[in-house]
Amino acid sequence: MYKKYPKPVECKSQSGIEIIIIKEFCKGCGICVEFCPKNVLALGSDFKVNVANIDACNGDKLCELRCPDYAIFIKKQKKSKES
Ligand code: SF4
Repeated sequence: MYKKYPKPVECKSQSGIEIIIIKEFCKGCGICVEFCPKNVLALGSDFKVNVANIDACNGDKLCELRCPDYAIFIKKQKKSKES
């Protein structure tokens, strides 16, 4: 029997930046919280990372790059080619 993959928590900003958190992978170390220059993230009472201010996210992916457990990802909308 296959084990189901954990369901990610997804949060999208008004500018189209998406933060995806896999809570089961997060160990609550807070590295992503500390490295975010915009204070987008916070540790919750469950000792897992939460999105505190999605619209402050500039999509620089510092959290994604620093997380040692691959628990957080940033997706940005591609710019359309229309001018
Ligand atoms: S760096 Fe990764 S493991 Fe640490 S709190 Fe952030 S998401 Fe969780």
